[in-house]
Amino acid sequence: MITDTLATIVGAANVVTDDAGRAFYSNDLSYTDVETAVIVVAPGSPEEVAEVVRVANEAGCPVVARGGGMSYTRTFVPTRPNTVLLDMRRLDKVVEVNTDDMYVIAEAGVTWEQLYLACAEHGVRTPFWGTLSGRYATVGGALSNNALFFGSTKYGSAAESVLGLEVVLAGGKTIRTGSWAHRSGTPFTRYYGPDLTGPFIADTGSLGIKTRVSLKLVQLPNASVGFAFSVPTFDASNELTLEIAKLGIATEVYGFDPLYNGVFADLGFSFLKGVDWTVFGIVDGANDAIADAGAALVRDLAARLGAEEIDPSVPMAVRADPFGAVRSVLMGPKGEVWMPIHGIFPKSKAKAAADAAVAYFDSKADLIAKHDIKLSLLTLASGTDFIFEPSFYWFDELGAFRLEKIEKEWADQWKTIPHVAETREVALGMRKELAAIFDELGAVHLQIGKWYEFQSQVEPAYAETLLALKRALDPDGLINPGSLGLV
Ligand SMILES: Cc1cc2nc3c(=O)[nH]c(=O)nc-3n(C[C@H](O)[C@H](O)[C@H](O)COP(=O)(O)OP(=O)(O)OC[C@H]3O[C@@H](n4cnc5c(N)ncnc54)[C@H](O)[C@@H]3O)c2cc1C
Repeated sequence: MITDTLATIVGAANVVTDDAGRAFYSNDLSYTDVETAVIVVAPGSPEEVAEVVRVANEAGCPVVARGGGMSYTRTFVPTRPNTVLLDMRRLDKVVEVNTDDMYVIAEAGVTWEQLYLACAEHGVRTPFWGTLSGRYATVGGALSNNALFFGSTKYGSAAESVLGLEVVLAGGKTIRTGSWAHRSGTPFTRYYGPDLTGPFIADTGSLGIKTRVSLKLVQLPNASVGFAFSVPTFDASNELTLEIAKLGIATEVYGFDPLYNGVFADLGFSFLKGVDWTVFGIVDGANDAIADAGAALVRDLAARLGAEEIDPSVPMAVRADPFGAVRSVLMGPKGEVWMPIHGIFPKSKAKAAADAAVAYFDSKADLIAKHDIKLSLLTLASGTDFIFEPSFYWFDELGAFRLEKIEKEWADQWKTIPHVAETREVALGMRKELAAIFDELGAVHLQIGKWYEFQSQVEPAYAETLLALKRALDPDGLINPGSLGLV
């Protein structure tokens, strides 16, 4: 039996075979039906990953990697019977922090929080340095989904911090990319011949299993200055966010809406009471003078655009505990479930995207009120691009994964929220319709997985080329089948 062989490779303590355990690991946060993995295997080294993939694929079993499990677009959920799910979290070593050559090598199951702390001991961090989910989300999961938040306005998405990857392909062969592919090389630079790193990033795990990654390093800033502005409208918030981004000074810039400002007002940031639209961010610098000078430029710009400066304690609080927000992101203010979608747009399409979402929600106002669905409209600048993340909140069963990630007192209070089938259907249906509206506007997405439309959105020649690559790397379609619509 293949499950016995897999247990021998990784050790019996590192497999899950019971029904509840397999179901837990096979589900993401998206409330959709899944195929349950036949076994969950947690390898402890890249070599064990390669051996598990070899044995599973030889037996005709699909293999899917799962990082922190913090996805909501069916990225790692199995689609085929006999799937072997790899729990990557035992690959948790930060292998090398090289402050001479300014790269860090980490195993793929390292979380962003672990990576940040390990690098900070050496006075450095990665340019993109984590998601808000980074207490649980892994570097392997983030590079497979591609990801945005800390560092993104200045340095872009997680993908842009990558120097090289070590990847186990279908059948168990391992390759390394960039200068890491050099027989005598180290992973200090991304380009050595064609960029074979790129195809494995944002592939939502469909082309191979990442076992180690090399990321760039930058110096930790010695000074960080927060800024915060109140603006009258959503349009003004988006305009200010993206104009600040163009200065190239701020490390993060993001916008809050009335719902989020209300939540923060209730958390004690009382100056946000009654404030609808805000823009927050941080300027980092090598010393106080540099950070202060950058923040002064941001303030000048905001004043010219008519924004009102307010207390900057929100962005400073986010920075003080960067990975501590999982519960407050994962749930709405009263224990509602949270379900986001997003679109990435160039600045020139930001207003059209914002208008389209607002018009869509207006058209659904009665349904939204009937089912007591709440909405938020969060925004972020990644480089100079507009990241627009509308979210839905409604009362529903939280499920085992959410309950595990929230503090016990919250879990006890809300674990019995019942599932109202019609409300869930309405919310999930609106989420899908909004994604289609974004796609009409040319939105691109992170976390494509098995939820965002992809094959129908790209030009046929591109889809054919990607399929040819998939066939070359994974002829039998045994690595995360269905991800990116590739089977
Ligand atoms: C509360 C909360 C906050 C969030 N905040 C952010 C945010 O700030 N920014 C953002 O971009 N996203 C955010 N997300 C979304 C999500 O957390 C990110 O996409 C995150 O990067 C996923 O990492 P993970 O380790 O949990 O990956 P998983 O969800 O476990 O997996 C994601 C995908 O990666 C694949 N995968 C995982 N590991 C490997 C590997 N080693 N090799 C190959 N494929 C692999 C899986 O098969 C799957 O396709 C948030 C989610 C939640 C629930």
